[in-house]
Amino acid sequence: MKSIRVFCPGTIANVSCGFDVLGLSLAGVGDYMTVTQTATKGITISEILGQDLPLETTQNVAGVAGLALLEALESDAGFDIKIDKRIKAGSGIGSSAASSTGAVWAINHLLGNPFTTKELIPFAMEGERLASGVAHADNVAPALLGGFTLVRSTDPLDVISLPSPGELYATVIHPQIEIKTADSRRILKSNLSLKDAITQWGNLGGLVAGLYREDYELIGRSLQDVVIEPIRSILIPGFTEIKEAALNAGALGGGISGSGPSVFALSKGKDNALKVADAIRNVYEPFGISFDIHISNINKKGVYPA
Ligand code: ADP
Repeated sequence: MKSIRVFCPGTIANVSCGFDVLGLSLAGVGDYMTVTQTATKGITISEILGQDLPLETTQNVAGVAGLALLEALESDAGFDIKIDKRIKAGSGIGSSAASSTGAVWAINHLLGNPFTTKELIPFAMEGERLASGVAHADNVAPALLGGFTLVRSTDPLDVISLPSPGELYATVIHPQIEIKTADSRRILKSNLSLKDAITQWGNLGGLVAGLYREDYELIGRSLQDVVIEPIRSILIPGFTEIKEAALNAGALGGGISGSGPSVFALSKGKDNALKVADAIRNVYEPFGISFDIHISNINKKGVYPA
């Protein structure tokens, strides 16, 4: 039976000023998944290593996303999925998106690529609907396409791949506390002032221009979020200290990864990203909260055979 093992990248959604529209794909943080074609129609999940997640197809984002793809093809094919989870669920580093995208990419590959990678986005979004109640694309788009992506619109879906400057590195701290996505959405305000809107779209435009021009200073200046971060950061103990330590250590900028609790900083070059990691570690240890720190460059490939 045909089988493939794939790397399913972790992702940073929002990237500070791009709430619900921007995302980036990580190279050094992700899960692995093995998908094998079977003789029985449908999808089974026979193994999940590393975490306690549902094996039931309709309760696991990999199963739901894979079934959405098979339904669209009216296919009688069958697949078994084994997941090696390295990204903790609920970390804010796109754990559910990693599984949704890995499943649809691998199944599409085993079927001879009836869809382009971009066309897989809506199926992976069905997995996100199961995870969070909302079929959002800001994690699944960069997980599938790699690099930075802009979700200009979800209805109709309009996703644009943006360039990723080669020396850009992310430092991500995951404090091991639980923040419910529903809570981090509920506390947001539904209105914003014209003044804040102007600041935000100035920064978003600046960040996109900085990526195209490989202008690290412009990227750094633009990594400012006056809309979401002031509210959501309250849920993350030590957020202010982490960000300050990262900036003092030379980071270009940073913010909350997805809906948190992970916090990211972007730096120019790996050495700087390592210095930022040391600074964050030093400032966070006294908080007495367990944490992981990841250092990663940008993954330009998306999901790929591994
Ligand atoms: P993250 O914050 O890392 O993006 P999410 O909050 O999006 O993670 O998704 C985690 C939720 O999705 C959890 O409720 C988890 O039980 C559910 N889930 C179902 N299947 C999976 C899977 N294969 N991988 C990760 N999470 C899954």
